[in-house]
Amino acid sequence: MTNLHQNLAQLFGFNTFRPGQEPAITSLLAGQHTLVVMPTGAGKSLIYQYAAMCLPSPAVTLVISPLIALMKDQVDSLQQQAIPATYINSALPTAEQSRRLQAAVQGQFRLIYVAPERLRSVPFQQALQRMTIGLLAIDEAHCISQWGHDFRPDYRRIAQARAEMGHPLTAALTATATTLVQNDIVELLAIPDAQRIVTGFNRPNLSFEVCYAPDTATKLQHLMQLLTEQAHTAGTAIIYTGTRRDAVEVARFISDTVGIQANYYHAGLDSDERTAIQDAFLQGKLPVIVATNAFGMGIDRPDVRMVVHFNMPGTLEAYYQEAGRAGRDGHPARAVLLYAPQDRILQQWFIENSTATFQDLQHLYRTLARSGQSQVMIAVDQLARQTNLDAVKVRTGLAQLERARMLRQTGDEGGQMQVSLEPWDNNAVTAVTSALEEYCAHRQRQLDQMTDYAEADACRRRIVLRYFSDRGAAEAPRCCDNCMVQQAPPPDPQDVNTLSRAERGALVILDAVKRLGHGVGRRRLAEMLKGSHSKDMTSTYTRQTYYGRFAEFSRNRIEQMIDQLVLHGYLKIVGGDIPVLKLSHQGQAALTARAAIPLTIPGTDDIDDGGKRKRYAHSSTTQETEALFRQGLQPNDIAVQRGLTEATIFQHLAALIGAGRLALTEVVSADVIAQVQAVITEVGDLSRLAPLKERLPASISYDELRCVVEDARRQRKTV
Ligand code: ADP
Ligand code: MG
Repeated sequence: MTNLHQNLAQLFGFNTFRPGQEPAITSLLAGQHTLVVMPTGAGKSLIYQYAAMCLPSPAVTLVISPLIALMKDQVDSLQQQAIPATYINSALPTAEQSRRLQAAVQGQFRLIYVAPERLRSVPFQQALQRMTIGLLAIDEAHCISQWGHDFRPDYRRIAQARAEMGHPLTAALTATATTLVQNDIVELLAIPDAQRIVTGFNRPNLSFEVCYAPDTATKLQHLMQLLTEQAHTAGTAIIYTGTRRDAVEVARFISDTVGIQANYYHAGLDSDERTAIQDAFLQGKLPVIVATNAFGMGIDRPDVRMVVHFNMPGTLEAYYQEAGRAGRDGHPARAVLLYAPQDRILQQWFIENSTATFQDLQHLYRTLARSGQSQVMIAVDQLARQTNLDAVKVRTGLAQLERARMLRQTGDEGGQMQVSLEPWDNNAVTAVTSALEEYCAHRQRQLDQMTDYAEADACRRRIVLRYFSDRGAAEAPRCCDNCMVQQAPPPDPQDVNTLSRAERGALVILDAVKRLGHGVGRRRLAEMLKGSHSKDMTSTYTRQTYYGRFAEFSRNRIEQMIDQLVLHGYLKIVGGDIPVLKLSHQGQAALTARAAIPLTIPGTDDIDDGGKRKRYAHSSTTQETEALFRQGLQPNDIAVQRGLTEATIFQHLAALIGAGRLALTEVVSADVIAQVQAVITEVGDLSRLAPLKERLPASISYDELRCVVEDARRQRKTV
């Protein structure tokens, strides 16, 4: 056993190093600046903690980490290992801050954790001057680069502070950095000769999936399916949404309709609430958390079994960072993206609205200068109203003006900031705006790459690895949905004559999409199959073999048939502003094999929102449950046989009841039906299960309740 290993066992109680740890530690111990890029959960903290313990006293390690909330946990666990460490942040009373600083100066700690904002504090700066910083460790170092996905202006202070500390030995650590971001980190920190330790980005225990879900209702349906499939495994799930409002609504849907306890987290909650939710999650008291991207950085919950993105993020880095929070324990976990091409539009909006143009900057400056004074007190919201610009734009615009040295922030008080203005300089402003345009173009390219991932037919793992310039093999037992479809045996070839009318219809639609190449929208395809005479029906369409093939159906119904094929993955919708249909691998295989696709040709009763439920009732997994149920198997037997939870099976049965394919009395006993129906009459509202459940005896399960409610919904619709 080497010394290095002996220390590992003694200090941290581990027997072996994880990949990348040993070379990174060796590099630091040799006095080399080191950039570490290792995936989430790989054990980056140990690298600087270990090095910190090897520094000759009184040298101390200063750790810069972005999240105040998590410092305490890190420090607690070090203290448990008898390693003297502390953190200093704004959550502590001032007296305690001073006490800790004092102790730090006296050399009582080996590690001190701070957030980058702390570098602004004068007492802290003074204390630093009296300490010997032997190692500066910068966690989440990608935050320093504006080319990364989570740029934090405060990280820019680190370079200056580092110089003031006398250029100490530096470790920069991150889980997600492209080569571009890596270069930026070493350049900005002025450690160009840093040793780079970049282990592979592959996380073989994660499987990657994308579900095409063109609208919210479909997303919720996928989510329900995913969560019920997951319900029998221990561990937890994180659902990321693009907006705070969605976080709230999706959490409510999961609690009320899916019947699984869930809570939401976003930056708009006050800090006590956020801490409480985060703690509940970390302690395993919350099976599902729905959150915006404000949640998760540095969260060390090893048994996250699934991360679902309800909306597509703007970059693959952000996606991989968030999805990578699944399966830190190395056991199988799923990363699922629910993709609606419209999500791209939201991201596009973010890009456009976060960047102020030259005219915007001029407008902002003139508004500030209007008072004629060189010092102005103003709040962002107030300025947004006065200029009619979006608050985000105002904030970034002010930062841009500061960069162009047109203004200086000289203080802040009660939500207002004090700025002093310099004379307008056209050249300086032009320079910052063109830098900004370059930045916008960069974010646009990042968004394109994210969209390529979502729309790809190829191996998704490979796309991620190549994005991070990782040339390693993209291999994993359960790789991604695209790989799994390709590995699955092809569907049984069918004699077309044995197919039903609906099944032939499905093949017609797939073949029509194929023949039209890459460019047919859903509505236009429906018009073509209908044989419409609208002016959109140019000769490209009227010449097609299938023009008018579905003349007997309304366009609406044809669109619903197309939707079913999308929902079940035979077709996908790609392209942002003008979405078009494309054949998936699965669709191509079905077409080649002339497979029987269980498509339903909707009747008049299920146009409108019932159509969604109906489609679900016709998904293949539900049909399999139906078949077994008809053979006389009980729900729990079906669950065992299919390797699913009983809740999932009941969900299938409820859908079948809702679609009128099973009688309620076949599934739920008459006395339970009577009790639930009485409560339904009392409450009236069928949109949420929880208020009904509250009024029922505990012996009646959510499963039974859901079945009765589905039946009631169906009846209300047909009345
Ligand atoms: P990262 O910062 O890279 O995402 P962490 O530093 O939070 O990962 O470490 C993740 C987990 O791995 C922690 O629970 C840590 O105790 C554990 N760990 C780190 N190094 C080792 C090792 N050599 N052997 C076993 N467990 C380790
Ligand atoms: Mg970490």
